[in-house]
Amino acid sequence: MNPVPAYACSEDIVNYINGARTTPSQTEKQPVYNPATGEITRHVVLSGAQEINDAVAAAKAAAKSWANTPPIRRARIINKFLGLMQAHTDTLAAIITAEHGKVFTDAQGEVARGIDIIEFACGIPQLLKGDYTDQVSTDIDNWTMRQPLGVVAGITPFNFPVMVPCWMFPIAIAAGNTFILKPSERDPSASLFMADLLKQAGLPDGVFNVVQGGKPAVDALLEHPDVSAISFVGSTPIAHYISERAAHFGKRVQALGGAKNHLIVMPDANLELAVDALVGAGYGSAGERCMAISVALLVGDVGDKLIPMLAERTRNLKIMDGMNLEAEMGPIVTRQSLEKIESYIESGVQEGASLVVDGRGYTVPGHENGFFTGGTLFDHVTPEMRIYKEEIFGPVLSCVRVADLGEAIELINNHEFGNGVSCFTSDGHTAREFARRILVGMVGINVPIPVPMAWHGFGGWKRSLFGDTHAYGEEGVRFYTRQKSIMQRWPESMSKGAEFAMPTAK
Ligand code: NAD
Repeated sequence: MNPVPAYACSEDIVNYINGARTTPSQTEKQPVYNPATGEITRHVVLSGAQEINDAVAAAKAAAKSWANTPPIRRARIINKFLGLMQAHTDTLAAIITAEHGKVFTDAQGEVARGIDIIEFACGIPQLLKGDYTDQVSTDIDNWTMRQPLGVVAGITPFNFPVMVPCWMFPIAIAAGNTFILKPSERDPSASLFMADLLKQAGLPDGVFNVVQGGKPAVDALLEHPDVSAISFVGSTPIAHYISERAAHFGKRVQALGGAKNHLIVMPDANLELAVDALVGAGYGSAGERCMAISVALLVGDVGDKLIPMLAERTRNLKIMDGMNLEAEMGPIVTRQSLEKIESYIESGVQEGASLVVDGRGYTVPGHENGFFTGGTLFDHVTPEMRIYKEEIFGPVLSCVRVADLGEAIELINNHEFGNGVSCFTSDGHTAREFARRILVGMVGINVPIPVPMAWHGFGGWKRSLFGDTHAYGEEGVRFYTRQKSIMQRWPESMSKGAEFAMPTAK
């Protein structure tokens, strides 16, 4: 068993406003579960418009002085926060595993990928540098600067309770904004832990706030006139809703949605590597990753060789409590999600796919009430089936047989989602053609989960992202700032009279 102690805390998970934990006046609550045992471990408060008003007021009051703080001093606080996050990685990972269920080493990896963005945000003085042109016209100079937006908000999903908030707030804050985080109500504890670390790092009160809740809290953020921008990550229907509502209220918005990520296995691929990739990317984190591979496109005769190899690995997955260091896959986040996944498996059977490995009804000894399901493998899936078209968000891998690369690319390009994609091949020309022709935002070549690094930016295409800019990287900096262009002249002589024609270089 793992030597790392499970994170245990029975207090209610409340809000964090203006540097202090606050409980809403009307204390409606929702249970938070340990998915490995099925037990309720804590309760999270569900906030409404009043708590959003309080958080926005605190963030607005802090905004002017924070925006005026020199970027290098803001960066120093972010740098201290970086050190604290590194020092507390294992505690944060244990918090994630206790509420999400993913295995502990995967949770450590999540924290590490979040830390990458914090590290990137430490470079904000360089990232905010403007352009300067001397003498755009006689005696006139022109330069640009990027200024913060004011109060901005982030609404995040359950599947990365540390990493996805870190896609947003470190860059937003470093750029001089104040921030309100509305985490997922399914695994909200990490948000308060990070708030405490930010305070320890010296962040002034009101710059980072957390409001717990569901739709009423989100709607209040969308409607609040003092919130300038909304970053959202979650499912596509909600992402679409957020993007439309935010635009209606005149806010800047980036809303990242769901996915159906394909991995093509070409006949010239190394099949051992491809199987490792499919098993890890299909069943890692129980398939609850927006970059999980849920469809394998098996080209030519690959299927006949690969399906038996995949089936054996799927049957032998080590599925147990994520705190057990032997675990390869943990439970599903909630019983409701588990039932939804298993109903998709039933629909696949009904629609005629070949069920090679059936993960339904899986139990882990000693954890009979945990939300477990096994890995499921389908073969001979076709594009009309629901298990092909829709995001299942569970450990279900659908294999589709295709004739050639062209057919594979056409299928992917016709899919409504365009988040991640991968191709396993040993041919450079195939890889190049694939990367150029594919209509997907994040592409892997012999890499199953091509999540871009902190300085490259993350974002899908089509119905996997609504809005213009991707998350983090330089796109993130642009999202959380607006450009101002300044033109100056210091006349040395008397006025020569008004000019009515468009000014041009003289
Ligand atoms: P979700 O859409 O149910 O919830 C996301 C957030 O929206 C939560 O904070 C939730 O409280 C809030 N919310 C839920 N219903 C709402 C409503 N009706 N109105 C307003 N707000 C609402 O998503 P989830 O189940 O927490 O996360 C899984 C989904 O997120 C998957 O679809 C996955 O693909 C997607 N995801 C996408 C990315 C990406 O980068 N594209 C990354 C991670 C997760």
